[in-house]
Amino acid sequence: MTALTKLTLKGALDGLAAKDFTSVELTRAHVEAVEAARPLNAYILETPEKALEMAAASDARRAKGEAGPLDGAPLGVKDLFCTQGVRTTACSKILENFVPGYESTVTSQLWRDGAVMLGKLNLDQFAMGSSNETSYFGPVTNPWRASGSNKALTPGGSSGGSAAAVAADLCLGATATDTGGSIRQPAAFTGTVGIKPTYGRCSRWGVVAFASSLDQAGPIAKTVEDTALLLTSMSGHDPKDSTSLDIPVPDFTQFVGKSIKGLRIGIPKEYRVDGMPAEIEKLWADGIEWLKEAGCEIVEVSLPHTKYALPAYYIVAPAEASSNLARYDGMRYGLREDGANLTEIYERTRAAGFGDEVKRRILIGTYVLSAGYYDAYYLKALKVRRRIAEDFDKAWEKCDALLTPTAPSAAFGLGENSNDPIAMYLNDVFTVTTNLAGLPGLSLPAGLDANGLPLGLQIIGKPLDEGTVFSVAGAIEKAAGFTAKADKWW
Ligand code: GLN
Repeated sequence: MTALTKLTLKGALDGLAAKDFTSVELTRAHVEAVEAARPLNAYILETPEKALEMAAASDARRAKGEAGPLDGAPLGVKDLFCTQGVRTTACSKILENFVPGYESTVTSQLWRDGAVMLGKLNLDQFAMGSSNETSYFGPVTNPWRASGSNKALTPGGSSGGSAAAVAADLCLGATATDTGGSIRQPAAFTGTVGIKPTYGRCSRWGVVAFASSLDQAGPIAKTVEDTALLLTSMSGHDPKDSTSLDIPVPDFTQFVGKSIKGLRIGIPKEYRVDGMPAEIEKLWADGIEWLKEAGCEIVEVSLPHTKYALPAYYIVAPAEASSNLARYDGMRYGLREDGANLTEIYERTRAAGFGDEVKRRILIGTYVLSAGYYDAYYLKALKVRRRIAEDFDKAWEKCDALLTPTAPSAAFGLGENSNDPIAMYLNDVFTVTTNLAGLPGLSLPAGLDANGLPLGLQIIGKPLDEGTVFSVAGAIEKAAGFTAKADKWW
């Protein structure tokens, strides 16, 4: 049955519809693959009984002619999405034993459409990180290795479990979240496709909050079309999230494969950073060539405030995190340490329950919001954020979408950057801008570096124009013909 795990989501749905196999067979093949892949540490909770039960229910629906758009497809869920009755930890100690009494809106929509849950996927603690190394459950190991090397590489973060599980055929697709790049950078590091939609497309309800004005859910999957299928199901207005947009959700799959002739593609000159490997430059040039061949007009654009994006992000995101994480007080959720009085309980619970990176963010966030520094840091960062959004507004006068690299490097070794927060933060240099401006961004694999590791290209779109992003991505996917897979070592 292993061949079933090699299918794309679309291929599997077609096979289910043609009655080539059942969802129980498809799900069992994935359950076995997940069990065999424990060395990757992608799943921190496997739910095989639940998966097989959901699969059997799906087969019964299909037999009655009531199959939904994702019926019978086994998926993984980033452990930041609350799942009713199934432990949800945000990969933290403080939520180690938290079992939500409710389901996140995004996952409930996937189950509504018939999908099957295989289990919960590893991530950086509270989604803070770029390498999955801040997880309380230990890092995920990237299924990819450099040619001729056994060195363990990071799958990226924070959605490292989601990306690794998709790359290693441990699910047909996975949910993920992106606050500064956490869908796109892991997708680039693992040869998978990931899209962060426009802010407000997906409901944040039931997703453990990191930085609420930046957090967005989105899918990671094997192909552009598969991400379009998943995003269509995940999107939509939710009265329980006041920032979710009350507008119709198109069927995003109709944009994949559409001609992009005549589209103007912007190349932002500020995304050419010092020290970027020549192979990434080359990949970017290839992407430009492919788009020209598909009939696009290439225009140079300027996003002059790009250089301030990372510093602004690392003020806004920790500020919001420090406020969001105030709720973990040992009273309402999760861990509680004993203490002589209330303050001591708070202090001991939070000291024991949060990892170092989370503490660093809370300290930075509290500092930049404090009375004496609010204007100098937080307010200033908000102004920079506005300028960055205006840069994009100006760019849209000249182009319909932007093409950039996704990350400034290929996957790096586990442990390589973990003692240097600044080096780690630099991973997000090409991705944070879209979170600050609320724009959709998609990463797809477009080539390999000299060590045989995947590299990603990013397409950034206008607000709510995921359609164009999917069309451009579909064209690049076709031209790049990326079919490489990690050699199985686990
Ligand atoms: N790597 C970034 C951070 O650590 C982004 C994380 C994310 O998008 N959740 O904040």
